[in-house]
Amino acid sequence: MKELQDRIRIDGQVIGTQTLKVDSFLNHQIDPAFIMRMGETLADKFTQDGVTKILTVESSGIAVAMAAGLKLGVPVVFAKKKPAVTQDSETYLADVFSFTRKEAVQISVAAKFLVKDDVILIIDDFLAHGEALNGMVSIVRQSGAKLAGAGIVIEKRFQEGGKKLRAAGIRIETLAAIEYMEPGTIRFAQN
Ligand code: 5GP
Repeated sequence: MKELQDRIRIDGQVIGTQTLKVDSFLNHQIDPAFIMRMGETLADKFTQDGVTKILTVESSGIAVAMAAGLKLGVPVVFAKKKPAVTQDSETYLADVFSFTRKEAVQISVAAKFLVKDDVILIIDDFLAHGEALNGMVSIVRQSGAKLAGAGIVIEKRFQEGGKKLRAAGIRIETLAAIEYMEPGTIRFAQN
């Protein structure tokens, strides 16, 4: 998505060679109109797949997932990162190592929200080493639902998550894929 590449070049801050900060439109401050266009563009790639529900993980995936859910006309479920006192007893769990916090977290989804007749589209903001996506795939598998694939806003292709998960047969669509970055330079992959 050309608009996203331009926005990353203008507003993105590359930290070292591994982390991209896009907190002016995606990860802290949100640009609602732009988020809507991104969610709709991801949704458009899955219009033929019979998606019945979107799954994301809190918190930065939620806005884009909601935009995609609105376009496809389906509910959005977000996995929680911390157990709450209100947590349902029947819950799907997956262990995920957080890229940004550098700690293990257990994500959870109440079993009642993902059922075996569902066709799930996973949406997330970033794909790096694939931990978050892998955790969500595990939750979909636990529910017995069908996985249509994953829609990712920014894939850092030089980290191995996308390669691993595609090799495992998961369809992954991205709006912008970065093949190399360092402060002052961001190179996007062509596809
Ligand atoms: P993974 O689990 O694939 O290693 O990383 C994906 C998750 O970590 C995303 O849900 C996202 O929240 C966070 N993440 C990974 N890389 C970046 C990055 O470069 N910048 C930001 N802001 N978040 C990232």
